[in-house]
Amino acid sequence: MARRVQSNPRNRVESGSRRSSPRPVDWPARVQLVLKRDGSCRWLTDGQLCGSVERLEVDHIDDPTDHDLSNLRALCHEHHKLRTQAQITAGVRAYYTTRSRKRPDEPHPGLIKK
Ligand SMILES: [Zn+2]
Repeated sequence: MARRVQSNPRNRVESGSRRSSPRPVDWPARVQLVLKRDGSCRWLTDGQLCGSVERLEVDHIDDPTDHDLSNLRALCHEHHKLRTQAQITAGVRAYYTTRSRKRPDEPHPGLIKK
């Protein structure tokens, strides 16, 4: 008797999303877990925890493609916005830095090709 093997839905990712990295299908469950675990905004300003419980969102601490609970934390809307903007700025800067470093040496325009 042959049974068709069902693919594990936890390993499937959403398609057609406009996000830069796809979220796992159990993303909403992870959000709930993180918000329940952290309970308040984890943002630190000079060692002071924000601690806000208003409009909490889930932030990726390090790698934005790593959706492991250890890489996720709760942030209030304001701090998440601040954080996301900083990540975008850093990403754009990294893009240009990498490009200029990788740019091949162009031959001198005065050189005559043989
Ligand atoms: Zn906050």
